[in-house]
Amino acid sequence: MTDSGGMHCEEGVCRRPDLALLHNLLKPTMRYISTRGGMPPKPFSEILLSGLSPDGGLAIPEVYPSVTAAELATWRGLSYPALAFEILSRFVDDIPTDDLRSIIDQTYTAEVFGTSDITPLKTLEPGLHILGLSNGPTLAFKDIAMQLLGNLFQYQLDKTGDELNILGATSGDTGSSAEYAMRGKRGIRVFMLSPLGKMSRFQTAQMFSLQDENIFNIAIRGVFDDCQDIVKAVSNDHAFKQAHRIGTVNSINWARIVAQVVYYFKGYFAATKNNEEQVSFAVPSGNFGNICAGHVARMMGLPIKRLILATNENDVLDEFFRTGVYRPRTTTETRHTSSPSMDISKASNFERFIFDLTGRNARQVRDLWSAVDQGKPFDLSQTPLFAKITDYGFVSGSSNHAARIDTIRDIYQRYQVLVDTHTADGLKVGQAHRETDVPLICLETALPAKFAESIQEAIGREPERPAGFEHLEDSPQRFVVKDADVGGVKAYITEQCNAS
Ligand SMILES: *Cc1c(COP(=O)(O)O)cnc(C)c1O
Repeated sequence: MTDSGGMHCEEGVCRRPDLALLHNLLKPTMRYISTRGGMPPKPFSEILLSGLSPDGGLAIPEVYPSVTAAELATWRGLSYPALAFEILSRFVDDIPTDDLRSIIDQTYTAEVFGTSDITPLKTLEPGLHILGLSNGPTLAFKDIAMQLLGNLFQYQLDKTGDELNILGATSGDTGSSAEYAMRGKRGIRVFMLSPLGKMSRFQTAQMFSLQDENIFNIAIRGVFDDCQDIVKAVSNDHAFKQAHRIGTVNSINWARIVAQVVYYFKGYFAATKNNEEQVSFAVPSGNFGNICAGHVARMMGLPIKRLILATNENDVLDEFFRTGVYRPRTTTETRHTSSPSMDISKASNFERFIFDLTGRNARQVRDLWSAVDQGKPFDLSQTPLFAKITDYGFVSGSSNHAARIDTIRDIYQRYQVLVDTHTADGLKVGQAHRETDVPLICLETALPAKFAESIQEAIGREPERPAGFEHLEDSPQRFVVKDADVGGVKAYITEQCNAS
């Protein structure tokens, strides 16, 4: 807004100051700030491509939109895309309404997600449910957000005529979800690094069988950390990054969080009869992206009693919620487990929750993360903040390989329902915190077909595959092999950008 001769002018329209104030009160605006306080408020479209603010913090709404009882009552009857529109339009107010609606309608279809429910609820017994989030193209919950991101990116690039080269490192789910969301999109190329021979055969085939010309699978002679180091090195080369329009789709992207808020509402409506009831959610967690969306839903006013955070052996988050100490691990301390998508050393989205926990005190977040960014722990156990954690509904627990296998077998025997290893971690911890009068919704984050070995160990046979995936490993594969060398990867990116 500018001030010209006592008038307030915005987008070429000038008003008397008192009327300008009224106009702004009537026009809801959603602006994003940084958890570390160093970013002027920005609209959604300006944080869409990154989510990381220049001061190292994460983008977060200035205020969470709140949902009235009347709105919640109307939302109960909505289809998935209609509900997604209601929720997303409260976070995105700089894309014209009709455009946003059509992006959403085109994303959440039965064709892409297998059912028109998009996230069907399965009831194991009264009060115990599994919310199916894994019916997208790569059979993991990340598709729900990534498919939307693909369409949002496409829309944005179509408007500006820009190009985007997405560079990422993956040990499995994120990379394939990103590739399936971006395949065939105009103006977008995906360069995805993965450790040669280290992913499961299913995951490798899922990614490498893509024949789309804008998808570049780069198998690196090395381990996952080598891949991640290359991505970091390229991202820190600002000149290269700018010249080649390099972007990322990692889990701190705010649009991914917002897309995930939707299924907390959907799951709530499916598991309850009226909006007086409360439910609890059990969430298999790694980078804190999924459960961060649950936290946002609760802040908006969804009647969530507890957010039950489940980790595997890599229990950095469980440790925090139990003790108040957040102690990021080194990569050598990070264990490779049978729920590999939760194998993390620190949780990138966790900073968003701490921002809220501190009463949105950016200075305090900055201090805490100046330790974290040097690999050091912080300890809130002796502060009033520790007691406040329960006000936000959080409880936690951890699981391990034996518990996972037992849970998969137990759920199969009792309910004839087969779950994957990540979902099993959630079920294990969720059931330990289950309360008699509160429905428990466990989030299913992947399908068992992706983790055949553990399923074999639990029930003595391999899981069935959904239609279309039977012969995945037999399809021709398209990938290049490179050394773990930044220069070589940069040269390859340059070459491909010039060629197409
Ligand atoms: C990514 C992933 C998780 C962890 O989700 P976060 O948002 O990182 O907490 C859990 N399970 C599966 C199958 C995943 O792919």
